[in-house]
Amino acid sequence: MINHRGPEFAALLEDVVSGLRWALRTANDVLLFPASGTGGLEAAVVNVLSPGERALFCTMGSFGDRWANLADAYGVDVVRLAVEPGEAIDPEDVDRILAEHPAIQTVFVTHNETSTGVSNDLPALAAVIKGRGKLLCVDSVSGAGCLPLDTDALALDVVITGSQKGWMAPPGVTMVAVSAAGFERANTATLPRFYLDFARAKKYQDRNQTFTTPAVSVLYALQEGLAIIREEGLEQVWERHARAGTMIRVAVEAMGLKLLAAPGHRSDTVTAVHSPTNSSDSLKQFLTHLRTRYGLVLAGGQDSLSGKIFRIGHLGMIDDSDVYSIVCTIEQGLVDLGLRSRVGLAAAAAQSQTRSPQPAAEPAAVG
Ligand code: PLP
Repeated sequence: MINHRGPEFAALLEDVVSGLRWALRTANDVLLFPASGTGGLEAAVVNVLSPGERALFCTMGSFGDRWANLADAYGVDVVRLAVEPGEAIDPEDVDRILAEHPAIQTVFVTHNETSTGVSNDLPALAAVIKGRGKLLCVDSVSGAGCLPLDTDALALDVVITGSQKGWMAPPGVTMVAVSAAGFERANTATLPRFYLDFARAKKYQDRNQTFTTPAVSVLYALQEGLAIIREEGLEQVWERHARAGTMIRVAVEAMGLKLLAAPGHRSDTVTAVHSPTNSSDSLKQFLTHLRTRYGLVLAGGQDSLSGKIFRIGHLGMIDDSDVYSIVCTIEQGLVDLGLRSRVGLAAAAAQSQTRSPQPAAEPAAVG
């Protein structure tokens, strides 16, 4: 392991931060903390809010709820704008709430809700929120690096992401892009903070160090992930995810399954699908069968969606051939368990491979 106060680490940190600035399209500081994505969500809350302050949390599912609950635990006066699972946040609702509550100075929005496979229209939301002069914090844990995200063009103040998603690195580092207005707010906001303090993190990063011992091995992986993205090109990476998302959705619907997310807001990094069965046990059996028989790992639903949906993660290292493999395997799994009687083209192709089954691709885990 290298000395994290030495020149090798300084060069690594500088390279990772400049890569993240490029990928997030920002000239802002990108602070790195040894924590999972939730640590980044907590960093945003404790640095920009004060006890008892009213703030708007727009939630589309489990991760939006987590952010609001976290703020609640810190004594924030949380105003929740919650939508039904599968729905996106309507900018008009945000505008209405901001008009009704002039005390709200900060809005928290999930870019891509991993629990429901819904992407918000971030430019439309940012136009409303920034148009009213509010500070805007965005959870892009499962969006950044995969979905179009123009931090500075949208004037986003705090953008949070995590090493384990589109960046193709192991978990353990949260990356938080903070605008000048975000740092200014942190100077006056009074929620207690220590480990996740923006000002201290910036002071260390300005000299290419980190306050605490960094997750050095994860940062090496992140450097490699960024190099892969640079080699392919950022917009090409966005296009590849858009293509994978479209292919998965078309195939899933062609199998007769139903998507949870509303049309127009379907995520290109995670697809949530209504269960092909009406029993949570048989859904579990289906997912276990896919994993143990074919090596395809899909996620179940979280919280109120547990036993009702399954989720396909398609972010990071994923290409067309992975999508074919995922689609064929899902269809074959349905046929195996009698959940789909007609063997379609995809399943027929998969069946022809059953003599020497290949483990299906396993893209980055969904949360
Ligand atoms: N926000 C979103 C949108 C996520 O998908 C996740 C994790 O999957 C999180 C927050 C929390 O991240 P972590 O599990 O790394 O703490």
